Amino acid sequence: MPTLHAYLHQITVAKRLCRIIFGAGALTLLVVGIGTGFALYKNWQVRLEASKTQLIRTAEMANMLVEARLLEASKALDASKRELEVALDKGALTPQQAYLILMRANQGLSVHDQSKPLKLSFWIDATGSLVARSDEYPKQALDYSDRVYFTALRDHPEKTWAIGPLVWLPPIQQWVFHMAIPLHDRRGRFEGVIVQQILHTEPNHDLATYLDPTNLGQVMTQFNGGAVSLSFHRAPQGPGTPELSDTVLQAWKHDLAASGARTGTGIWALQPDTQSQQAVVGFATSPLFGLVSFVMLPMATLLRSFLWDNHYLLAYVVLGMLFVIAIFYQAYVMAVQLTIAVDKSLHDPLTKLHNRRSLDETLPTLLRASRRGQSPVSVLFIDIDFFRRFNEEFGHETGDIALVAVGRALASCCRRPMDLVCRWGGEEFVAVLPDTHAMGAEKIASDMLHAVRGIQLQSVSPQQVPITVSIGSVTTIVGPDQRSDDLVDCADKAMQSAKKNGRNQHVAWQLVPQPRDPPRLPEQHTQRLPI
Ligand code: GH3
Ligand code: MG
Ligand code: MG
Repeated sequence: MPTLHAYLHQITVAKRLCRIIFGAGALTLLVVGIGTGFALYKNWQVRLEASKTQLIRTAEMANMLVEARLLEASKALDASKRELEVALDKGALTPQQAYLILMRANQGLSVHDQSKPLKLSFWIDATGSLVARSDEYPKQALDYSDRVYFTALRDHPEKTWAIGPLVWLPPIQQWVFHMAIPLHDRRGRFEGVIVQQILHTEPNHDLATYLDPTNLGQVMTQFNGGAVSLSFHRAPQGPGTPELSDTVLQAWKHDLAASGARTGTGIWALQPDTQSQQAVVGFATSPLFGLVSFVMLPMATLLRSFLWDNHYLLAYVVLGMLFVIAIFYQAYVMAVQLTIAVDKSLHDPLTKLHNRRSLDETLPTLLRASRRGQSPVSVLFIDIDFFRRFNEEFGHETGDIALVAVGRALASCCRRPMDLVCRWGGEEFVAVLPDTHAMGAEKIASDMLHAVRGIQLQSVSPQQVPITVSIGSVTTIVGPDQRSDDLVDCADKAMQSAKKNGRNQHVAWQLVPQPRDPPRLPEQHTQRLPI
């Protein structure tokens, strides 16, 4: 159902402006937000792929560096083996002779590169007891028969080398692992194993030198599916850096074996039973020593570095959005202020009813609608009786209070959405009642007379003479030539008759639309006929 406000063009336009600005602002933010989100998502995908490639390369590099160390150790072992076999051919060896052979073999190999001297090597005989070391004579008889590399070579004669797990050596306070090769005499009898000790820090140092520390969390290198032998953390290890647990590694290796791939990547959980911490993992296998290296980068680290790399873009977008919000907010506030100003310009500040301007705006439209629908329209002109006297008696302030009360009383009688009550000026009001015939106008006018008479002002003495109004009304079906001013004038004249009849009453006029004048013939066509 249309309301009167629909006919107040300015208010409608101002309100639409508010809505347009609000909508445009929200849409701009949405478009910028979605665009940025999409761009970031695409960037992230590129970054993730680049990171996976990088992790595979790192895993391959880790394999290569560990292999280089193992090849170096195997060279030293080969040299010792040759010397020991030659010496064994000549007969049984004393520990002193063995010591000299091991020492010379080690020194001979490390002389070309003093920066990477090989550490301890030793010979364990077929029973598992230590015979000789490269650095000193053994002070006491030591039993090494339970060492993994010893049992592996003793029980599997086909094996040409074995590598042991990472072990902690309290005397030197270091993690070490061992590479061992078997020793046989001329007749092929097992004479024990020669072992080269490799400090964990050595390949670790290489990894730290050659690997890009920014793009990895942890490197794990394993030999032939054995226990973890090398573990390299990017240094310094930050607090809370997640560890690769054995269980997780086993799970990964299972997946790896299932895939059968030489290299690959995956996004895997860091904890076996929870998906809360995830990591991007790259792996690479190497056939030479059966190495497999896993390089892990926690997802949180990758995300942090991604956000840091994009922080200019993010800052730019946030600033841009704030700027857009500020501009649209200002525009919105201005549009709201405009709506309020337009609203004020169409209302009377004292009674808050519509004003004369509002009536001028809407009355022609209301009359057009009435003409189109051939429905009656009634216009009431209301004037407060003896209001000058009232003002003189009670003061202008009380007069204003009375005006407000009268306005409210009149408006309370006109309840249809298209009814318009306005303050015409001074102590005069006009009510336009569309689709209301003479009887309806009579009823409304009578209600108005009663409502005004019933006004009780608190600021006025109880003996106050009641406030009354005189009402003139006109009802018509709007004709083609009827102007809105004519109707108000007519209603005013009817009100004047009510005044003359003694005030405090209603006088109704009914206007019958006049037929249009018949078209007059031009002068030259007029004929005067003789009688
Ligand atoms: P009548 O019954 O013939 O209409 O007598 P009246 O005194 O009401 O008519 P008149 O035209 O002589 O006086 C109108 C008075 O209304 C003049 C003024 O004191 C008062 N008036 C007009 N506008 C306002 C207003 O905004 N506030 C107050 N307090 N009084 C107003
Ligand atoms: Mg008057
Ligand atoms: Mg008056």
